[in-house]
Amino acid sequence: MHFMKTINKNYINGKFVKTSSKKFIILKNPTNEENIAKLYLGTKNDIKNALFAAKETLATFSKTSLKERKEILQNIYNELIKKENELNKIATIEYGAPINTTKRRTKNAINLFLEMQKIIDEYEYEKRDEFSLTLREGVGVIGVIIPWNATYAHLCGNIAPAIAMGCTLVIKPSEFNALETELFLECLDRANIPKGVINVVNGTGETIGEMLTKSEEIDAISFIGSSNTGKKIYKNASKTIKRIVLELGGKSPSIILEDVSLEEVIPKVIDVAFSNSGQACHAGSRLIVPKSKLQEVEKLLVENIKKLKIGDPSDESVKIGPMINEKQYKNVQTYIQSGIDEGAKLLCGGAEKMEGFDRGYFVKPTIFVCEHQNYKIVKEEIFGPVLSVLSYESEDEAVEIANNTEFGLSAYIFTNDDKKALHFAKNIKSGRVLINRASSPAPYPPFGGMKQSGIGRMGGKYSLDEFSEIKSILF
Ligand code: NAD
Repeated sequence: MHFMKTINKNYINGKFVKTSSKKFIILKNPTNEENIAKLYLGTKNDIKNALFAAKETLATFSKTSLKERKEILQNIYNELIKKENELNKIATIEYGAPINTTKRRTKNAINLFLEMQKIIDEYEYEKRDEFSLTLREGVGVIGVIIPWNATYAHLCGNIAPAIAMGCTLVIKPSEFNALETELFLECLDRANIPKGVINVVNGTGETIGEMLTKSEEIDAISFIGSSNTGKKIYKNASKTIKRIVLELGGKSPSIILEDVSLEEVIPKVIDVAFSNSGQACHAGSRLIVPKSKLQEVEKLLVENIKKLKIGDPSDESVKIGPMINEKQYKNVQTYIQSGIDEGAKLLCGGAEKMEGFDRGYFVKPTIFVCEHQNYKIVKEEIFGPVLSVLSYESEDEAVEIANNTEFGLSAYIFTNDDKKALHFAKNIKSGRVLINRASSPAPYPPFGGMKQSGIGRMGGKYSLDEFSEIKSILF
């Protein structure tokens, strides 16, 4: 018999508190479909208590010294790093995260608590001149709502700057990350954080998430998730004019210019498209290539895709794991079928079940070559291992195709010509542009989207800007 854990507690005012809720959902291990957790969804009362704790604690926590906050950050780091391996393991079990990429993400996430101490030292909390004093004050109680595809990164990415700014938090994690969240909270519980600074209530978006977004006790919302949910949150948060950060979806272009070696670039392009099994907001899911090179690109894509190992995400050599759950699996399959039905050329993969995988939500890594941009698979975020290839005849056309999307989260450019790289980078509407690389060389550069990919920038000192209000005192 396999193991299933019951999670019926929320973390409120420094304690694990049992919910009175009778409603639950069952979470399955996406690799083998075994039940792994029974999560009780929080109630109105749970969120009320969490909000009360966050609000009450704010009065004292906002007055703490920077030294005290740095100590808290250090304590959190110390506790999380002890459980690093377990955190990784549970992410693999709960959402099928391939262990080889999860390790790096978790490490970066935990290290932010060290980095934030340096950022505190450098941050301009106060600026004085002859006539004025400009203060950066913590925004207050922050409601945080996050998705399932990188829980630790999203938790750390919000908790560290909130502490740095003396803010308190009410967090609604994704209902699909109950085990990861619980282990993370057990670490926080040992970190000697003043009670009430971090409060976490489990539940669905339509209930707990909406209550949080509409609450008058919340001063700011930090949301990471899909653009569609972001729109609802933006609307609900507007009722009390909350400060808002929205980190939303993407349909990021990878652009290959004529001058590169395709043998070198195609593996990188595959990496940006299929990282985290394609379940990454910044996935380079539209590949834009010179028409003259299309045939060669197709050949190399097929050759390289065969090298991607698919299977048990706890295996270090596996690149593609399962989709997080059945709903996501069906969603991705529907997109693949729509590409086929709409007439895009299927280069590899497809919508049928993968051979050798009787259990688990595995999708075949799929590549389409698209002769125009009106296919659903080109326009919409799929959030799975599906890549659409488009071709261009001139570099201006390449820029046009790259920008022909409602999203603007990331872009990838591959060229040996520095001048051209910068020209493309400046002309593509995207919060981040990476040149000749699949991931950022710096661990905490600003991150966020243009257009419908979001509002605001998180990362490093930028998160402190988002979590603060400016007060101008004039003499
Ligand atoms: P989602 O939008 O379905 O859910 C995100 C969170 O919002 C969950 O906690 C969910 O319970 C909650 N939610 C749902 N409806 C809500 C509502 N009406 N009010 C309040 N909360 C609500 O997204 P997902 O499927 O969990 O995650 C995948 C999406 O997240 C993709 O679109 C991906 O691009 C995006 N994402 C963006 C970033 C980024 O930094 N830009 C990072 C990771 C993921």
